[in-house]
Amino acid sequence: MLIVKKFGGSSVANKERIFNVAKRCIEDWQNGNDVVVVLSAMGDTTDELLAKATDINPKATKREMDMLLTTGEQVSVSLMAMAMQSMGVPAISLNAFQISMQSTSKYGNARFKRIDTERITHELENRKIVIVTGFQGINKYEDYTTLGRGGSDTTAVALAAVLHADVCEIFTDVDGVYTADPRVVKNAKKLEVVTYDEMLEFATLGARVLHNRSVEMAKKYGVTLIVRSSLNNEEGTIVKEAVKKMEKMLITGVAGDKNAARISAIGVKDEPGIAFSLFHTLAKNNINVEIILQSVGRNGRKDISFTVSQDDLQATIELLEDKKEVLTIQEVEYDENVAKISIVGAGMMSNPGVASRMFEALYNSRVNIKMISTSEIRITVLIDEKDVDRALNAVHEEFNLGE
Ligand code: ADP
Ligand code: ASP
Ligand code: MG
Repeated sequence: MLIVKKFGGSSVANKERIFNVAKRCIEDWQNGNDVVVVLSAMGDTTDELLAKATDINPKATKREMDMLLTTGEQVSVSLMAMAMQSMGVPAISLNAFQISMQSTSKYGNARFKRIDTERITHELENRKIVIVTGFQGINKYEDYTTLGRGGSDTTAVALAAVLHADVCEIFTDVDGVYTADPRVVKNAKKLEVVTYDEMLEFATLGARVLHNRSVEMAKKYGVTLIVRSSLNNEEGTIVKEAVKKMEKMLITGVAGDKNAARISAIGVKDEPGIAFSLFHTLAKNNINVEIILQSVGRNGRKDISFTVSQDDLQATIELLEDKKEVLTIQEVEYDENVAKISIVGAGMMSNPGVASRMFEALYNSRVNIKMISTSEIRITVLIDEKDVDRALNAVHEEFNLGE
């Protein structure tokens, strides 16, 4: 078997944990399997590097940022190789450059375009354990790029796809995917199986246990994912294609995302083309808009509100202020202290009343809803950031997800 195993930052946070991971990987290798290991940076390294950069230059270029951030993963893979070698096992660490993991040019948020398998295959044929840096790619300028926070999961799935691995295991600091973040909702329950579609929504909406693009890629290439703990041998959660027999759960889980901001373009002209121009301007500048709400026109004017991620807030405000006249905006307002909470579940497609139950639960715990957006399998509401934990617990309770 060819096994890809990915370990997150907390799983390799110190010497003891590095050896714990080394042992787990060596076991599979000793059983005759080919083993590819993908690692994140140790502990909070990435956050610490970010803080160092901000201290030196708060407006550091994204290129230099990626040059810096990619060092974190290089430390963990080389130390892991040393640990395995000290146990008498042939291991080799490789980074994105050595493998040629080519990505798009966008620093800080690159996507894989092409990954060569030659080097890895060669090392595996020599019976080595191959340890690869997560989170990084190389762009057409031969610069390092990063895949966005949490991107090591995507490295693992991408490798599993191109190497046709039999399984891709994502090891983390919780036992699997839960009905809600187990650190916020105490009685959250571990899910045995989740479908790609549900997990994709879930990850995109704030269940950061998996990077959303890793799920997208797993679905595209049919990679079965297993999410489990690096600290015990519990079975974990399987993420895979829906099968007919699978019972469609009404609600799979709830997720919260504090990385949101609301922006309102107040008093724009109520005439055709305004929304188009506004969102076209944002799209051209690579700003991703989430929930959109437009008020009913009054006296020829209306308001358009929408949410963006907090990282894009400043750029969005600048753009709108810049184009205030062409876009006929009277005032640009914004609110950073908002968050999204969402419920996800394939079962809601065929069950009316799910939204009203969610809203009632929020009402009962005095949480005000600012915006609403829905798809076939999710409902998202925008609320005050301070209400997130209370709201998550209330909604989790309403749908009896802890049982
Ligand atoms: P790693 O460093 O291993 O990649 P992450 O911090 O990225 O770990 O992801 C694991 C964390 O995701 C957990 O510690 C947990 O707090 C959080 N999390 C959020 N939502 C969920 C969920 N629905 N199920 C499990 N964990 C979740
Ligand atoms: N080290 C990176 C981060 O902290 C990538 C990852 O952990 O997946 O975001
Ligand atoms: Mg992660």
